[in-house]
Amino acid sequence: MASEVARGSCLCGAFEYAVEGSFGDVRYCHCTRCRRNNGTAFSANAKIDRSQWTLEGPADRITEYEHTPGKYKAFCSVCCSPLYARSDDDPNDIRVRLGGFVGEEDLDVTITGHVWVDWKASWYEIEDSLPRYPEAIEPKP
Ligand SMILES: [Zn+2]
Ligand SMILES: [Zn+2]
Repeated sequence: MASEVARGSCLCGAFEYAVEGSFGDVRYCHCTRCRRNNGTAFSANAKIDRSQWTLEGPADRITEYEHTPGKYKAFCSVCCSPLYARSDDDPNDIRVRLGGFVGEEDLDVTITGHVWVDWKASWYEIEDSLPRYPEAIEPKP
């Protein structure tokens, strides 16, 4: 049974965050940006409504990196954990990484496939039967 509220925090504990309700459909992203940002083979990024999201912690410790004009990735300035991503074009949405939600509760999320598989790490083999897409599919995850 999925929980109503999913909770997570950054590595140093300065920030705690929560998502209320469903994360919706999520795809594993193998693009080089996600790989470098997380230091992992792929990332699980959920796009949620801003009204579902709460973040508590010292605002002056948030760094927003503008990786593309108008698109930002926010992280904790002390421990570098990702907090959220946002876009000026999409002010009602926020993107979060599922890995930070480490509470006991099951996440209300449906994993629907792998995207940017053409950019996958050579040392990682996909071993599940989810659909695979060479690049992004619309709507973008
Ligand atoms: Zn931190
Ligand atoms: Zn990606």
